[in-house]
Amino acid sequence: MPGFELFDEQERLQVNEVMEKGFTFRYNFDGMRNGVWKSRELESMICDTIKVKHAHLVSSGTTALSTAFAAAGIGAGDEVIVPPFTFVASVEAIVLAGAIPIFAEIDETLCLSAEGIEAAITPRTRAVNYVHMCGYGGHMDAVRAVCKKHNLVLLEDACQATGATYKGEYLGTLGQVGTFSFDSVKTISCGEGGAVLTNDTNIYNNAHQYSDHGHDHIGSDRGAETHPIMGSNYRISEMNAAVGVAQWKKLDRILEIQRRNKKALKDFLKQFSEIKFRDIPDEAGDNASFLSLIMPSEERARDVVKQLGAEGIPAVFYWYGNNWHYFKNWKHIQEMKGPAKLPIELIADRPDYTQVKTPKSDDIMSRTFSMLVQLSWTDADIQKRLDAFAKIFK
Ligand SMILES: *Cc1c(COP(=O)(O)O)cnc(C)c1O
Repeated sequence: MPGFELFDEQERLQVNEVMEKGFTFRYNFDGMRNGVWKSRELESMICDTIKVKHAHLVSSGTTALSTAFAAAGIGAGDEVIVPPFTFVASVEAIVLAGAIPIFAEIDETLCLSAEGIEAAITPRTRAVNYVHMCGYGGHMDAVRAVCKKHNLVLLEDACQATGATYKGEYLGTLGQVGTFSFDSVKTISCGEGGAVLTNDTNIYNNAHQYSDHGHDHIGSDRGAETHPIMGSNYRISEMNAAVGVAQWKKLDRILEIQRRNKKALKDFLKQFSEIKFRDIPDEAGDNASFLSLIMPSEERARDVVKQLGAEGIPAVFYWYGNNWHYFKNWKHIQEMKGPAKLPIELIADRPDYTQVKTPKSDDIMSRTFSMLVQLSWTDADIQKRLDAFAKIFK
């Protein structure tokens, strides 16, 4: 997954151009920036590649989620459906919007299923925070249909799936609004950064205004601008955007390497009947940043992960057991612990998050582990993994 593995002089040249000719602020200062507009440049490259009308850069994937919710009109008291296998930001952004996270079941795509979504809908449901985990999403035709049927906003968190496609359309562009993360370990890295993606000009206008104190961004005099709405500061800096400009030009190369490396592992593993691969509805569109395997039992999954460790294979993740991506292990979220009183505490009939049950997701995730697919692997690195697999699964 990590684009940082391909950092070279291209990223440095881009950053230097900002420091030498441009300016650090993404708006205004037209007279002193010599036509250097890195944020605009990256936004327009993203739009061209993924064929979306608007891309708006922000400071992170997390602030992209907060911006996307606000821009799509999701706020206080709204219920938002979210998977238990995700990143904490998915829940944080909902709670900080004053909305109510509702956990629903995933399937063997490792993402929310249409049935899981439908079972979690109540009269207060307004949106689905659809998280494309570990490089790919789920059965999006069915997901889109259920959202449409119930008039829900489909927000796609494509933070881990930059460049992935479903039947020719890019993940992040299938719903009303989508997000990317460009943090230090994502497919494309800005150091820190994120993007809001949408074909809806109203959502786009809300997004760029909300992420910059409500500024309308009309004209070249910031002091003369009006503020149609209130917002905050989730701006990206030009240095971060500059890193992203160099990285985005490497996206095709990154995807090609990941897909080739993942295929080498997967082709070899197909001979072992014990292994079930994560369901990938449109394999050609897989971002391929992770290989995820589903074992027959929790015990076997734990055992295989342990053996891979003993064989010296790094970056193998048993999500069900670590504190990274699974709700079961997030005590602070089950207890809705903030440093101060949260909006959700004002909602008397809010769910008791210590009692959330997702047995189907538990069953799948207790048997699943993922291996990070790296860009820097040599043939020997791949062979080392195949040898370890052969020893464990023979
Ligand atoms: C990384 C990530 C985020 C948050 O992105 P940041 O840029 O680190 O804030 C959100 N959702 C998912 C699924 C992620 O993997």
